[in-house]
Amino acid sequence: MKLQMEIKINSTVEDIPLTYRIFTTTDGKKSAYFIDTGGHYLNLKNHTIALDGTVTPSVGCPICPFHEHIKLSGWNEVTCNE
Ligand SMILES: [Zn+2]
Repeated sequence: MKLQMEIKINSTVEDIPLTYRIFTTTDGKKSAYFIDTGGHYLNLKNHTIALDGTVTPSVGCPICPFHEHIKLSGWNEVTCNE
């Protein structure tokens, strides 16, 4: 199942349109990945994604300055429908 959702970014910087996609980790958990504002692949498998889509801890890119607290919009529906 391929899903593409808008990521809501909670931060002080301007609203940046990003999308995420769902994947299943090797231990069967739902996780997500996305391309950051610098064009780098970021994987959330080592982050906790709450039922409401809030990702903890904050997500930082090792390559570019991207470092944000993010929330995955629609995450609740994703985890319920599969
Ligand atoms: Zn980056």
